[in-house]
Amino acid sequence: MDVTQTNLAEIRNAIASGQMRSADVTRAYLDRIERYNGTINAYTQVFSERAMQRAQAVDAGEVTGPLAGVPVAVKDNIATTFGCTTCGSKMLENFRSPYDATVVRQLEESGAVILGKLNLDEFAMGSTGERSTFGPTRNPWNTDHAPGGSSGGAGAAVAADLAAAALASDTGGSIRMPAAWCGVVGLKPTYGLVSRFGLVAYASSLDQIGPITRTVEDAAILLQTIAGHDENDSTSAIESVSGPIPDYVAALNESVAGKKLGIAKQYRSEGNHPAVTAALDRAASLLADRGAEVVEVDLPHTEYGVPTYYLVATAEASSNLARYDGVHYGHRTEDPADLIDLYAASRAEGFGDEVKRRIMLGTFALSSGYYDAYYLRALKVRRLIKQDFDAAFQRCDAILCPTTTGPAVRIGQASDDPLAMYLMDVYTVTCNVAGIPGISIPGGLAETDCGKLPIGLQLLGPYFRESTLFALAGSLEKEMNSTLIRPDEIRI
Ligand code: GLN
Repeated sequence: MDVTQTNLAEIRNAIASGQMRSADVTRAYLDRIERYNGTINAYTQVFSERAMQRAQAVDAGEVTGPLAGVPVAVKDNIATTFGCTTCGSKMLENFRSPYDATVVRQLEESGAVILGKLNLDEFAMGSTGERSTFGPTRNPWNTDHAPGGSSGGAGAAVAADLAAAALASDTGGSIRMPAAWCGVVGLKPTYGLVSRFGLVAYASSLDQIGPITRTVEDAAILLQTIAGHDENDSTSAIESVSGPIPDYVAALNESVAGKKLGIAKQYRSEGNHPAVTAALDRAASLLADRGAEVVEVDLPHTEYGVPTYYLVATAEASSNLARYDGVHYGHRTEDPADLIDLYAASRAEGFGDEVKRRIMLGTFALSSGYYDAYYLRALKVRRLIKQDFDAAFQRCDAILCPTTTGPAVRIGQASDDPLAMYLMDVYTVTCNVAGIPGISIPGGLAETDCGKLPIGLQLLGPYFRESTLFALAGSLEKEMNSTLIRPDEIRI
């Protein structure tokens, strides 16, 4: 088999059974990265030597574990003691973390080989994957197109077989959106299921780490590796809240018969690409054929999702990003006139336009006189959105909806209109606002002026019910043959 044209589970099994050596698999991925990363720009850094050493240690039996020898990559806002943790920003271009993120430790303890760090919109702020200080990532399906953001590098790397799987972060859609636009699987777990320790904070009440993978099973395997309480993250759920961590892979065999699948009219917008509407109908009828019961649910506050999200996210970002002051972390200006100038110039030089815009929006929303009208109001609407889901999940086990309104935009298409970019998140943000889990799986291909491009289908579930999502998503993946969706060889 071509080792780079497969998935995490197959690679893991082949290495575990001695059919393949991790060093050969890792070398094959590194060769592919060498060949294509110049075009795709999925990686900010590649740890070739370290990865090969780890792979050889696996082959020598010195490193063992359930993911022994499997080459994966992590988004570059997840802290690693090796290499830099740049967040795609000039501010942290040379930042070296003194500790590893919990998820990095978990990956390494399970024997995985980390190939490198993946490009992202600066500080994970963006919907297209174009706003990194290291340049845009390109969509392997068509390199004139954006991969989706903010985890553009992760989506593109998995789709282009530059990693067997990836870990990324999702604050308002950053895992699911690139998964949809790149034709792969992306899961945002329930808030609190996965430790955020070592994830550079964007909006702390929304941020969550999750997998981007080729298959639903791979997502289940990676979630198994990273789920669970971490005493280093005070927002990580304890077992009395989350329940014991289930066997997620076993959940794939759960029957969908008798499961109630919610459909909401709020997701059936005129603005959806016809392929999105068709995929939604097809998915619902395939699951109904397997015995699921389709029920109408109402999510009346969906239209307030984007404004609520962008108020909460920017408010939290303005506070979280205050630490980059030229003294504590990151870029420091040269020859400042005084201390205030040191702060102002370091921040002015270190941050890109979108990050500055968000800091200003968030500072405004929190400022005295406007706090009640904006931030506090957003918190109240957040509660209403959460209540919509609570009520819907009284009637169904999961909600089926699109991930995005259509396929990938062209690079540059959304760059001078921030509002247009924010509106792209209409179907992904409510999941984070409510804290529930959501998975995006390939929904087929949309015919566009520029050829065929993938679209995503999303399943949303109640808190800590990732197993239900895996059961439904796994069944859909099988029925729709979506693991066969792959881009042609990349043009370089
Ligand atoms: N597009 C959203 C934003 O720009 C979501 C980003 C994310 O999930 N990190 O804030």
